[in-house]
Amino acid sequence: MTRPRVVIAGLGDSGLLTAIHLSHHADIIGISSRPGLVSGKELGTRLTQPDEWARDHWISFDRYRRLDSVRTVHGTLTGVDLDARHVQVLAADGTATEEPYDVLVISTGVTNGFWRPAGLLSADEVAASLAADHARLAGAASIAVIGGGPAAVSSALNTATTWPGTRVDLYFPGERPLPHHHPRAARTLLGRLSELGVGVHPDHRAVVPDGFACDRITDAPVAWTTGQDPVRADVVLWTIGRVQPNTSWLPHELLDERGFVTVDPSLQVSGHPGVFAVGDVAATDPLRTSARNRADKLLAHNIRAELKGKRLRDYRPRRGLWGSVVGVQPNGLEVFAPNGRAFRFPAWTIRGLLQGLIVERGIYRGVRRS
Ligand SMILES: Cc1cc2nc3c(=O)[nH]c(=O)nc-3n(C[C@H](O)[C@H](O)[C@H](O)COP(=O)(O)OP(=O)(O)OC[C@H]3O[C@@H](n4cnc5c(N)ncnc54)[C@H](O)[C@@H]3O)c2cc1C
Repeated sequence: MTRPRVVIAGLGDSGLLTAIHLSHHADIIGISSRPGLVSGKELGTRLTQPDEWARDHWISFDRYRRLDSVRTVHGTLTGVDLDARHVQVLAADGTATEEPYDVLVISTGVTNGFWRPAGLLSADEVAASLAADHARLAGAASIAVIGGGPAAVSSALNTATTWPGTRVDLYFPGERPLPHHHPRAARTLLGRLSELGVGVHPDHRAVVPDGFACDRITDAPVAWTTGQDPVRADVVLWTIGRVQPNTSWLPHELLDERGFVTVDPSLQVSGHPGVFAVGDVAATDPLRTSARNRADKLLAHNIRAELKGKRLRDYRPRRGLWGSVVGVQPNGLEVFAPNGRAFRFPAWTIRGLLQGLIVERGIYRGVRRS
C-alpha cells in the first residue's frame, strides 16, 4: 500500500516535531529555508553564549534519528496550488520544483527582529550572524534593550550577567515587563534584573523610525512617544515583538487580516481538508500559543485521524504565557508555570537529565552527537 505524502512547509520548532511524530506513518518531505533547526528561542543566551546556545538550538537535520526517513529540502516556498495539491519551492541551488502532497502542514513561523530574519540562510550565514551579534555586544560599554517581552527580558538579564561592566537598560511600555506572563513571574525576574544593576524603565514606548523593520542592531539615539528625553547606547536591541507571519507564499483566502493562517480548533485550515497549520504562523488564539503548548502532538494525531476518516481533536490554548524566559543560568534553568511559580532544574541536571534524557531522547526521539 502506498503511504500518504505529507509536506511540512517550514521545519522550525513545530514543523520538525510534527515530522518526527509522523515519520513512521507517512512519506514526509520537509522544506526549510534553514539548513537545520535554527530555533528562535532563548535570545539572551544566543547573544551572550552563542556556542552553548548553538549546541542545543542549532542542529542539522541529519542528527535527528527520526528524520532519517524524511526528505529535507533546503529552499524557499514560493507558492501553493490548493486544487492540484502541490507546493512550489525554489531550492538553495536555484532550481524551481513542485512537491505534491496528500497533506500539507504550514509551519513557516514568523519573522521577528534581527534574530529571526526572513529568507534563505546557509550554515555559514547562520554562524556568521551568531558571531557578529555576540562580538558587537561584547564590545559595547552600554546596551539599551527596547521591549518588555520574553526576548527583551532574556537579553537584558543575560547581557548583564555575562558582561557585569556593561551598562544595561531595559525600556518597555506599561507598568511591568512580561505583560502576558503571570505577574509573579514578572516580579521574580524584575528582582533579578535589579540585583544585576539593570536600569529598569517602565512607561517608555520607543519611536520606531519610518521604514525600520527592527531587523538589525542599531546605535542611533532612541526617541520616545511617551515624552522622555532621547536615550543613546553603544548597542540598541529592538525586541519589540514586531512579528511578521511568513505567509507571503500563501493565497489570501487562507489568511486573517494580519496575515496569519486561519485554522479551526483542530488546526485544519478553515475550509481546506488536508491542509493544517501549527506554531507561530497559526491563528489559533490571540497569543498564537500552539508551538509552546506542544500542539505538534495533537496535529500529528489529527493528520493520522483524517487519513483514516476518524474524528479530529481540538487544540485548547492556555490563556497566559509560560515556560523558560531567560534560559540556562549558572544555577540552572527556571521554568515558569502558568501560575507564575518557577520550577528550577539545578545546574547539574541540565546536560545529562534535561538536555540528554528529557529533550533529546524524550522530545526529539534521539539526536546524534555532532
Ligand atoms: C519544545 C518547545 C519548547 C518551547 N519552549 C518555550 C519556552 O520555554 N518559552 C517560550 O517563550 N517559548 C517556547 N517555545 C515557543 C517558541 O518561543 C516559538 O513559539 C517557536 O519557536 C515557534 O516555532 P515555529 O515552528 O512556529 O516557528 P519557527 O521555529 O520560526 O519555524 C519556522 C521555520 O520555517 C522556515 N520558513 C519560513 N518561511 C519559509 C519559506 N517561505 N520557505 C521555507 N521555509 C520557510 C523558517 O526559516 C523556520 O525554519 C517552545 C516551543 C517548542 C516547540
